[in-house]
Amino acid sequence: MKKYDMKILKVDLTACGYETQLLDERTARGYLGGRGLGTKILYDEQPAGVDPLSPENIIVFATGPLTGTRTPSSGRHFVVSKSPATGGITFTSSGGTWSAELRKAGYDAIVVKGTAERPVYLWIEDGDVELRDAGSFWGKLVSETDEGIRKETHNEAKVLCIGPAGEKRLSIAAIMNEKYRAAGRTGLGAVMGSKNLKAIAVKGEKNIEVADGIGLSRAVNKAMKKISESGVTKEDGGLNAYGTAVLTNIMNASGIYPTKNFQTGTFSDAENISGERMAETILKEKTACYECPIECGRWVDVKSGKYSGVKGESLEYETSWAFGGQCGVNDLGALAKANYLCNEYGLDTISTGSTIGFAMELVDRGIISKDEAGLDLVFGNDEAMIKMIEMMGRREGFGAILADGTRAASKRIGRGSEYYAMQVKGLELPAYDPRGAFGLGLNFATANRGGCHVSGYTIAAEILGVPLKADPFDSTEKKVDLTILFQNLTASVDSSVNCLFLTFALGADDYADMIRYVTGWQNYSSEEFLATGERIFALERLFNKREGFGRKDDTLPQRLLKEPMPEGAPKGKSHPLEGMLDRYYVRRGYDTEGHPEQETLKRLGLA
Ligand code: SF4
Repeated sequence: MKKYDMKILKVDLTACGYETQLLDERTARGYLGGRGLGTKILYDEQPAGVDPLSPENIIVFATGPLTGTRTPSSGRHFVVSKSPATGGITFTSSGGTWSAELRKAGYDAIVVKGTAERPVYLWIEDGDVELRDAGSFWGKLVSETDEGIRKETHNEAKVLCIGPAGEKRLSIAAIMNEKYRAAGRTGLGAVMGSKNLKAIAVKGEKNIEVADGIGLSRAVNKAMKKISESGVTKEDGGLNAYGTAVLTNIMNASGIYPTKNFQTGTFSDAENISGERMAETILKEKTACYECPIECGRWVDVKSGKYSGVKGESLEYETSWAFGGQCGVNDLGALAKANYLCNEYGLDTISTGSTIGFAMELVDRGIISKDEAGLDLVFGNDEAMIKMIEMMGRREGFGAILADGTRAASKRIGRGSEYYAMQVKGLELPAYDPRGAFGLGLNFATANRGGCHVSGYTIAAEILGVPLKADPFDSTEKKVDLTILFQNLTASVDSSVNCLFLTFALGADDYADMIRYVTGWQNYSSEEFLATGERIFALERLFNKREGFGRKDDTLPQRLLKEPMPEGAPKGKSHPLEGMLDRYYVRRGYDTEGHPEQETLKRLGLA
């Protein structure tokens, strides 16, 4: 039986050197990989108080035991670091094939610290590691960088890189891979930029071996059957037929489609920018990440209107919302153009669109003038929105005020603007209004990386009824427990590393089976898998506690707590956070400040 090993490449950019390390089995089993491994490394190796944009901040690029194997949808990687947006621990992930290629090149994770004297990129080919000059790529857009580095290395290399936004250290800068895939949230593109690290290119031929190939085939067949039977993940199911933008009409009908900076939850033009409309108009073909049967990706090609000629991948639900409902824009061509620009500059689409929508509301309310914005920045003005994306990406004009997201922008603007900054812990909220999904609101408040939907996607149960329908307005212990379960399962899946969309079809037992056959770990069970997620979530809490986080940070924007939803199914509702938070801390075994109690730490093997 093949012994499971994780090989880590540790790069010190200041010293211009590297070393390798084999991870001990206890850590590998306790934290898996991806988000968990990155968190463990950050917690153990980085002292409190480090400036996220300083050489001391560590950034980890991690795969997991499932990455690059025959297990379905196993082409994601995680990036973990201290966030310049939140000041706390963060993880962000991306799909594609970069992660599988990294493992084929001989490494399971890369840990980077220090700062290079000049712009560099890391080139890894079949175990060989080289730091190369990236001077000619500095300032280049993402597609130019990708193509240029492949020309210098290998045409089939997989390139992960930053664009101008990362170089200019925007707190909303993404890390892109294979041109169109984004590890978008929490500004880790800026961390790469601060290190003068433009890119990491990988190419490898190594077989990714597993401990028990026959057992794994059985587990994969079982998983594939479930995927093919779920209405969400099957061929021609919701995700395959319409991409993630299938959610547009569903969320709008549920009254939780945030519109014009969360002023309401119903957008009258939602149908025009839905996944269904995309399929009828600009969709060219479906795309998929490594070994993924679902194919939720969309390649779009705009053939008419003023955005004719715009092409590109990854017009996701969150992206189409951020520039659609959030900015009051109803033209799919404009959304495709906005997405294209974010991909090229290396910007988080959610935070970029959310911040522009925030500025539009400030103009609407007379808090800032159109002259101050330098554009006719009003809801529905697609051209001003497009122009502002470029200004933000280059930190120019009023774009420089908005370039670090809504929390930083509201500090710069003042005049009461912070009330309209729809963020938690410095991270802009995504495309769901929690006044109509109380579990998701609790998750937004407590997620360790800030206003994040994928830390605990209770929308699955609260709105979609998967695996079972939960009352969206329930705020009792039952809903608190559901939120905790989603958060723990997510942290485990994120560390395995696998696409979260598979959880629409698979459960903890399926993951435990696949991990057991890949690693050969005796008696690896679904209980151990879920406990791993709980441990990782608590360790993230400990990191944030060290950075001064507490109950004051587990909150929601005042608008969602004070202003009743004006229409739709959640009409009259605001979010009942305080009571839910008390129950959440008790059920988690945390104290009233939201920090894990000693007993909890002992139970999780953290004391
Ligand atoms: S479901 Fe979509 S995002 Fe997930 S692995 Fe498949 S194609 Fe990629």
